[in-house]
Amino acid sequence: AKAAGRNTVRFFDPAMQAAVDARAALEDDLRHAVANNQLMLYYQPQVDAHDRILGAEVLLRWRHPQRGMVMPGEFIPLSEDTGLILPIGAWVLETACAQLKAWAAREDCQHLTISVNVSARQFRQSDFVEQVLSIVLATGANPHRLKLELTESLMVNNLEETVNKMEALNDQGIAFSLDDFGTGYSSLSYLQRLPLKQLKIDQSFVRDLLVDSKDAAIAQTVINLAQNLGLAVIAEGVETQAQRDFLERLGCQAYQGYFFGRPGPLQDFEKLLFAEAL
Ligand code: C2E
Ligand code: CA
Ligand code: CA
Ligand code: CA
Repeated sequence: AKAAGRNTVRFFDPAMQAAVDARAALEDDLRHAVANNQLMLYYQPQVDAHDRILGAEVLLRWRHPQRGMVMPGEFIPLSEDTGLILPIGAWVLETACAQLKAWAAREDCQHLTISVNVSARQFRQSDFVEQVLSIVLATGANPHRLKLELTESLMVNNLEETVNKMEALNDQGIAFSLDDFGTGYSSLSYLQRLPLKQLKIDQSFVRDLLVDSKDAAIAQTVINLAQNLGLAVIAEGVETQAQRDFLERLGCQAYQGYFFGRPGPLQDFEKLLFAEAL
């Protein structure tokens, strides 16, 4: 980019201009997607120490008419920049809560939890607590089955406000899990102030667990930390029996990953659930 005149910047690099245009096109598409029900949720099982299904994490997918299934990594950052994450995030919560309500009517599903990812921008809205509670109320979902996954980036600013919002939701039965734990740079002292229920060991530490002793040491440290703070711990990105067994020896009590089930449409998740019940 080269400065042209005083306040304007023009791109003379065609590749850079193309990237800017592509982003604008994606933004238009995404607005259209939100308005036209092209977003959907995939469900990935979370299992306990006996490999029994505890519930699911819901993961966004965008069924694009031309481009096929678009992964969240391709549109979440843009939706955060543009603010589209706010209507999208509300839709995710509504859909998850409506599913909890549907499961509550079935005896074999009443225990299931749903974990919902909440972006920092969403959480920082001044009326975030009211929004969540009104969705829970409107759908009739049991708040004790709802878990919100937050990342460490959220803790960096405004710890006081973060704690207040978490406590207000906690009071109504909603639990919190700290996602991607170990990848951020927040101070460990935050942990004792946050009303968390669970730490989530990031998949980057699980991937090479069996061959990289440093990753194993970090996983062990997170598990011990969780135990010492009275928190539950779940490992994500578990792809093999060997990783699962290794984590179990380290004291891990819950798992999520391709080894137990890939993220998929609700029907796939329920199939897995009922196959297990047989
Ligand atoms: P995340 O919350 O850390 O979600 C875990 C990611 O790991 C998911 O990627 C999941 O499909 C993938 N995964 C699960 N098991 C395995 C495994 O065994 N091996 C490997 N290699 N990967 C596994 P996905 O679905 O592409 O989502 C990426 C990220 O997008 C999520 O990371 C989350 O940060 C964000 N995201 C997804 N849905 C939402 C949403 O509804 N709201 C917000 N704010 N963010 C979302
Ligand atoms: Ca997550
Ligand atoms: Ca994660
Ligand atoms: Ca590594």
